Amino acid sequence: MVVALYVQKFGGTSVGTPDRIREVADHAARCVKRGDQVVLVVSAMGKETDELLRLAGDVSTSKPGREMDMLITGGERKACALVAMALTDLGIESESFTGSQAGFLTDTTHRNAKILEVNPRRIADAVAAGKVPVVGGSQGVSTDHDVTFFGRGGSDTTAVALAHALDADACELYTDVPGVFTTDPRLVPEARKMDHISFDELLEMTATGCPKPAMRSVELARSYGVKLHVRSAFSWVPGTWVSEEPSMENAIISAVTHDTSEAKMTVSGVPDQPGVAAKLFRSLADADVNVDTIVQNVSDAGATDISFTLPHDQVSAATTTVDALVAEIGAKGVVTDTGIGRVSLTGAGMQTNPGVAATMFETLSTSGINIEMISTSAIRISCVVREDQADQAVTVLHAAFELDKAPADRSDI
Ligand code: ADP
Ligand code: ASP
Ligand code: MG
Repeated sequence: MVVALYVQKFGGTSVGTPDRIREVADHAARCVKRGDQVVLVVSAMGKETDELLRLAGDVSTSKPGREMDMLITGGERKACALVAMALTDLGIESESFTGSQAGFLTDTTHRNAKILEVNPRRIADAVAAGKVPVVGGSQGVSTDHDVTFFGRGGSDTTAVALAHALDADACELYTDVPGVFTTDPRLVPEARKMDHISFDELLEMTATGCPKPAMRSVELARSYGVKLHVRSAFSWVPGTWVSEEPSMENAIISAVTHDTSEAKMTVSGVPDQPGVAAKLFRSLADADVNVDTIVQNVSDAGATDISFTLPHDQVSAATTTVDALVAEIGAKGVVTDTGIGRVSLTGAGMQTNPGVAATMFETLSTSGINIEMISTSAIRISCVVREDQADQAVTVLHAAFELDKAPADRSDI
């Protein structure tokens, strides 16, 4: 018999209660009884990570990175021990492992540590001994021997890295929805689960607001050719397979995503001379500001406006940087707008189908939604709109492109 090895990762909701933990154990036990080998990776229970972050804020303003990581990773540590206990009760031999015990060596960047190396010897040994290892997600040990956290959503990254290190047959990401949908099913009930999506499309989706799977894990899976399967922790129904191949369903548009976590800054009266934009964006990069969409207006009387988007939590760093530059580059001033939302359409088919942008803009205009900025990639079009119109924009675009229907049943654009 050929034995398959699966790394199965369960998100917060999937291990949110004692009942859920027993169900996860039951799921893994059935896989083992079927003859598969499984390695589990778990997130912290429910909203525990948020709760720990809140607690830290209640006792500290400095929140030292080393202590924050020790605190946050405790959530995953608790969950992996509980799952291992539940498995033992089902007669399945199981052992829990912290990230460090599982062989995750990282750099020293607390709260956002990068994996340097995975040495999964203890996990491989446990599997070889017929046990089910349960690994705490999103954590490792740094080159300075301190506990590190990979950042929000980091358990997906743990699972993919482990699947690669163990040469697993697939990495299964179990979550509270049955797969990757044409848009957030919580927002649009007609959203459709996709059976398959390409890495390119999924990366565009995760970069523009789809929380599942975490973008870093998708990048890692693509780099190492790890087969990803996003599926429901609540049923055995197959979910969404992610692979290198373009969408087998031949969809022109695959999905609509939205992101309301960005703000827009506009620097006005910028002299239209070589080197000014370079100076502005070099200073922002030096201040670690992640600039996204950039729009520069046509110049009028030798001056122009430059607008760009950036994450809300980087606005204060960006404001300090830009304020200091305004006089130096001879600009008029700077305005920050935190009330924006970005709505994006992704689809590999748009490369060969003209008309996607036109239909998108017509649909938004018919609904009275004003477009403030536009940006594109080969397989994505994004529009910045008012934040309070973002949900409506998603709904009308999902309907206009008939994403509730199977690709073969959709009308031409
Ligand atoms: P987990 O905690 O299991 O890692 P998350 O809570 O981070 O998972 O992400 C799952 C949620 O992502 C779902 O409950 C769903 O509402 C939301 N979501 C948003 N957009 C999509 C999409 N296009 N496809 C699937 N889920 C999506
Ligand atoms: N529990 C952490 C978070 O919510 C890590 C993870 O689950 O991926 O971000
Ligand atoms: Mg989550």
